[in-house]
Amino acid sequence: MKQANKIKLLLFLLLACLSVSSAAKDFVVIIDAGHGGFQGGAIYNKVKEKTVNLEVSKLVRDKLKNEHKDVKVIMTREKDVFIELKDRAALSNRIKPDLFISIHCNAIAGKAKQKKIYGAYAVVMNASQMQNLDKYTDKQRLQRLESFELSLKAGNYILDELEAIAGRKRGGFHQSLRDLALLREVWAPSVIVELDYLSYPEANKFLASKDGKEKCAKAVCEGIIKYKEYLEKIYDDSDNDEEVNQ
Ligand SMILES: [Zn+2]
Repeated sequence: MKQANKIKLLLFLLLACLSVSSAAKDFVVIIDAGHGGFQGGAIYNKVKEKTVNLEVSKLVRDKLKNEHKDVKVIMTREKDVFIELKDRAALSNRIKPDLFISIHCNAIAGKAKQKKIYGAYAVVMNASQMQNLDKYTDKQRLQRLESFELSLKAGNYILDELEAIAGRKRGGFHQSLRDLALLREVWAPSVIVELDYLSYPEANKFLASKDGKEKCAKAVCEGIIKYKEYLEKIYDDSDNDEEVNQ
């Protein structure tokens, strides 16, 4: 084969591979319903966190499956069972999703605080909270940094929608170490979403109601879709950059 033909063939094969890989790329989200089984999470006024988490997660799953066929949804649990944090993280690290989202409800002790503290929060893994940073290679540190930026994006979109659709006050980002054990192990962009405080009377009633759970699920779903669109936009832009550079 002539040299020019060989190059043409190689280019053709390369392009074929590239288009196959981009066409095959579905947006994958893992939805993790917090707690489960013997681990109930917060319980206030007989409303169990593990139950709210699971019901909202299942509603998010169904909404995504019905309305967004190009989104692949994987659940860490679909029943009232206990799953170790390390197993939830291992699933994420095996699947390498575009987003890992863990759904929880918040709570605070003390009668005076319970009357005052409410709102939706997101928890993300901050690079400075990582342990043994030294053990990572440069490439892994970069990956962690990129995941952190994307986690913030996803968290912002979800908090925006929880406010707009479900009327949950935008509490912002929490840096609670208690919740970070899971995120520390997850390499994908990841957010723990605390829908609201079960210890706050209005939020307790809202999260216990069918309407409240549906609104929260709709909000989380919309937030995920906004994040997906954001990712598509940056992938598109980087494709264009490559074309310009050639
Ligand atoms: Zn929780």
